[in-house]
Amino acid sequence: MIEIKNYINGELLKSSNKNNLDIFNPSIGKIYAQCPNSSEKDLETAITSSEKAFLKWSRLKQIDRSQFLLKIASLIECNLDEFAKAESMDNGKPLKLSQSLDIPRSIKNLKFFATIANDLETESFTQRKVKSHILRQPLGIVGTISPWNLPLYLFTWKIAPALVVGNCVIAKPSEITPYSAYLFSKICIEANLPKGVLNVLHGSGKVIGRKIVNHKKIKAISFTGGTDTGKEIAKKASNHLKKISLEMGGKNPVIIFDDCNYNQMINSLIKSSFLNQGQICLSGSRIYIQETIYNKFKKDFIAKTKKLRIGDPFNKNTDQGAIVSEEHLNKILNYIKYAKEEGGKIILGGNIPKVDSKLSSGWYFTPTVIENLSQKSKLNKEEIFGPVVTLNKFKDSEDAIKMANDNDYGLASIIWTDDPNKANKLAERLESGLVWINCWLERDLRTPFGGIKNSGYGKEGGKYAIDFFTESKNICIKYYD
Ligand code: NDP
Repeated sequence: MIEIKNYINGELLKSSNKNNLDIFNPSIGKIYAQCPNSSEKDLETAITSSEKAFLKWSRLKQIDRSQFLLKIASLIECNLDEFAKAESMDNGKPLKLSQSLDIPRSIKNLKFFATIANDLETESFTQRKVKSHILRQPLGIVGTISPWNLPLYLFTWKIAPALVVGNCVIAKPSEITPYSAYLFSKICIEANLPKGVLNVLHGSGKVIGRKIVNHKKIKAISFTGGTDTGKEIAKKASNHLKKISLEMGGKNPVIIFDDCNYNQMINSLIKSSFLNQGQICLSGSRIYIQETIYNKFKKDFIAKTKKLRIGDPFNKNTDQGAIVSEEHLNKILNYIKYAKEEGGKIILGGNIPKVDSKLSSGWYFTPTVIENLSQKSKLNKEEIFGPVVTLNKFKDSEDAIKMANDNDYGLASIIWTDDPNKANKLAERLESGLVWINCWLERDLRTPFGGIKNSGYGKEGGKYAIDFFTESKNICIKYYD
């Protein structure tokens, strides 16, 4: 049994209340670790250490703070396989995905923010004999709260910009997937990161997550997770007028025109539908197909989806690993029930697959394709966050845009067409924070990232994250003759 510990004041510690949570390996449905269910006392110890650390960390030269991030990145790089195995055991995702996406991207996050902060120009304005110089200053202690679907990737995406500009961070990973953040804590010790600069508190969102959000000494909350949680955080954070950045759920439309590059589209669509078992906020779960190619598309898409191999995340041939938890699997199963009640036709999947006997207590779900649902169906309205997509027909651009925008979420949209004029016009009218044309999951880390409507409040990425984690101060000097 692995014992995961908090990282407080530079040390790996058990929770002060000795209260632990069981951590499961979803591929076999068994407990493999325990992690602290942190208490208020743990948070207070972390706050005291961060307050002390902030005095020195915030005054270090930016380049020196960057060096720590680069050192941590290079130590993760040296231990990439260990991190990748931890992520797959904790989350159930195929090892090849952890090795090629999660851990490399975590390293990239650290390296990217280590360098971008040094490149940012400071602004100054001159008006007659008055000069205003804008200073970016760290906020103090900030809280980051991250989800289970891309554990280390989203953990580092938040802490890297926060730390590099001089904040101290209290980070809470998901209680479902704490392992890679624990390994990260060990790496911070190896990298001699000063005590208290980063504190990692494990435990339940409803306990320690809420305490972090409510603590008056924590100046900002950067959150990624579900929309209901985000809304609760927004309400609570307003008591102290905290800065908040909320990256939340999505129900992303994919619009496929008959003039698209068909092979590229189908290959990409398999990924945007089912990569990470569909547990990516940016997955395309509502697929709109121009009616002229609907039948051919359906046949080809089903044939290709059937080829996905489901099973042991540690087998290099596996395309679809396990669903993260039993609770989440049950949520997906409920949506299949709704689909049937709403008259949907399940044309592929919708069931628990047969897997190797050693995995029989694990949580698996077959990639599922459903058609014949109305736009009002729960399956076209609500985020399922699993390997389930709906197929819907459209006639022309107007029809497509109306259906795509008919949703409370607005994270990402995907368009497939070879007509750039049509694509651009559509992209301008789509209600989402990000529109991909003829691609999916292409990310330039300098660009703003975040949804609109119920998907996001504030932007992350590049200078947008730096803006969030700093306060701009205007120092105005008048010169006399
Ligand atoms: P949750 O909202 O349940 O949890 C996210 C994090 O918040 C976890 O660390 C959780 O802790 C914590 N938390 C839960 N309740 C509270 C609370 N009341 N106060 C403070 N913290 C709390 O989301 P999931 O972990 O289920 O993640 C899936 C969701 O994340 C999906 O909706 C997905 O779309 C979204 N997501 C959005 C992304 C984006 O960039 N827009 C990217 C990735 C995912 P605990 O684990 O203990 O519950």
